[in-house]
Amino acid sequence: MKLDIANKIVYVRQSWLNDLAICPERARLGLVRPEFRTGSDATIIGTAMHHGIESVLGGSASSREEMLQAVSGKFDELAKQPHKVTNIDGDKIPDYLASMTEAFYEGILPEVELGGEVEKFFRVPLGIVVQGYAVWLEGTMDYLTPSGVIWDWKTASKAYYAKEKQKSAVQPTVYTYAVAYERKDIENVGFNYGVMVRGDVPKHQIVPISRNEAHHNWLKHSVGGALHSALATSTQRNWVMNDSSNLCSANWCSYWSVCKGAFNMND
Ligand code: SF4
Repeated sequence: MKLDIANKIVYVRQSWLNDLAICPERARLGLVRPEFRTGSDATIIGTAMHHGIESVLGGSASSREEMLQAVSGKFDELAKQPHKVTNIDGDKIPDYLASMTEAFYEGILPEVELGGEVEKFFRVPLGIVVQGYAVWLEGTMDYLTPSGVIWDWKTASKAYYAKEKQKSAVQPTVYTYAVAYERKDIENVGFNYGVMVRGDVPKHQIVPISRNEAHHNWLKHSVGGALHSALATSTQRNWVMNDSSNLCSANWCSYWSVCKGAFNMND
């Protein structure tokens, strides 16, 4: 959430909405302590895979081997920077990168319409006003095909549960809203997760998510509710803390040390 006080606009990203759903305090700390936000080995793997995919879609890598070179080079570069170490076996990461590269190149790429826009930034009005602020959505989608299918690349420890994503994932709702707003020439905007599962054996998954006007109206309603609370509450005081999610841990929450981790509990 970013306030443009002069123009009375509040900009919202789907990643912040996700944080808000996981733990409101995490979303608040993201605003007031951004310097605490650090990546992990899992996020570095994800960034390296994104880089390799962009190399393929942008034309600088024209084979699986060249894609893997781009992926591995990016991983080695990012791994030199400080990051959290999760439960991923570090010795196996090169094998994971190779198997996820194969999963993308052989399994997902043949299904992707080429010639689209890579890393497409968007900034669109949501059409609601909260406490005098016009609400805008902004973000960057991984890939938009010429015919209007959005792809988001995911690296994951296990396959996605498609039904759960269809029911409540915010990202496809935000992204399809943005494309539908900006591209009136596209009749039906599509959304696919292209998932590469981390493991020794290449495993890919394509998860199509459908969104329509009803989902977009729900988005307006739910974002309006969230922003009413956020704007009415000072960011200098704590928000509601949800420590029941799996992401509330030293490995998965950047703010652990200034939140639950500061209480020195053993469990
Ligand atoms: S440590 Fe837990 S309760 Fe605190 S911000 Fe992170 S997820 Fe929320």
